Amino acid sequence: MMNGLRIIYRAKFSFLVIIFIIAACSRKTEGIETPVPVESKHVVKRGENLESMLDRSALVEHRPAIINALQWSGFPFRKCLPGDTLRVVKDAAGFWDLTYWQNLRNVYHLRSDSVGLVVYMKYPYFDTVRTYVQGKINSTLYESMLACGETSGLVIRFADIFAWEIDFFTDTQHGDSFFVYVNKIYCDSVFFDYGMITMALYNGNVGEFCGFYFCDPEGNEDYYNRKGQSLRKSLLKSPLRFSYISSHFSKSRYHPILKIWRPHHGLDYVAPVGTPISSIGDGRVTFKGWKGGYGNLVEIRHNNNFRSRYGHLSRFTKDLHVGKRVKGGDLIGYLGSTGLSTGPHLHFELHKDGVPINPLKVNIPRAPSVKEKYREMFIEYCDSLLQSIEQDFADRGGALPET
Ligand SMILES: [Zn+2]
Repeated sequence: MMNGLRIIYRAKFSFLVIIFIIAACSRKTEGIETPVPVESKHVVKRGENLESMLDRSALVEHRPAIINALQWSGFPFRKCLPGDTLRVVKDAAGFWDLTYWQNLRNVYHLRSDSVGLVVYMKYPYFDTVRTYVQGKINSTLYESMLACGETSGLVIRFADIFAWEIDFFTDTQHGDSFFVYVNKIYCDSVFFDYGMITMALYNGNVGEFCGFYFCDPEGNEDYYNRKGQSLRKSLLKSPLRFSYISSHFSKSRYHPILKIWRPHHGLDYVAPVGTPISSIGDGRVTFKGWKGGYGNLVEIRHNNNFRSRYGHLSRFTKDLHVGKRVKGGDLIGYLGSTGLSTGPHLHFELHKDGVPINPLKVNIPRAPSVKEKYREMFIEYCDSLLQSIEQDFADRGGALPET
């Protein structure tokens, strides 16, 4: 039976009341067969609304009553967004129970009982658990992490930490290993999202890398190696996340369209049309538009007299304009095949003091290290973190990978 208040949609209440459902009503009746409820789940897609979702869930005939009940309860229809989830439980006798997760943080229950449709709102319980994920590379970092039961959210967070040190498309090799100490957030005991990565390790042919998250008393936060040096550099290693290089920096390359030998002063990254392209560093846009063989081009000027160029783009981000300040990692456009191009790819160039240089060979200065006065604090923090991870491993009968 329900414990607490409830709203019947016929009543003129326009607010929601929190209900704690202690136990579900027993539907069993002596001598009558209990109908078997069937559950279906739908995730809201772009362009969908609650009404079309109800139709998809075969609730067309109940739709007006459901919408009416939700309206009376003050349900925020406008806040329904792609990614929300609708769960419907039905039995042979008809509509039974409906649950809507809005932004996953708010949960609305709608039940059909003897007095009509009743709406309840529930606040889910969130719990954060610190845990670790480790594995070996079999194909790509992405596939290897997914094989560990993780989602793309963790791959992206992990790759972002080492984005300045490792290009996960050119540097990863079969047999490399990774380790992540990460917070996982659970919503009513079901995995919800990843929180902070406290520590990450990557060990492979490219080298051994570790990153500790640290925030000093002044609020400067970053990932640092054991020496307290920032893992970030003033420029990112790659302007896009998932791709491979099809043509390297070269003083003489046979051009596939022009059919002549000429220098290739950049890198060609192959990926599908529409792949997001980011600025490799903080800077100011100095060119945006059509430029001959480059097709749609963006040029950005960075500190230390670096300049980056992104060619063959299919389109630019809406608010991009010459003079705009961008941050490293900010979206600037989308991969395409405009200008002199044989197929979808990004032509990427890096210039230093006006001269094109090989982005894979250049030495780019690091972002600031842990401040000298906090160095001791940082070392103590790392030691205690490693100790607690080791203890955690020992408790589970394992051992921390070599760092
Ligand atoms: Zn090129």
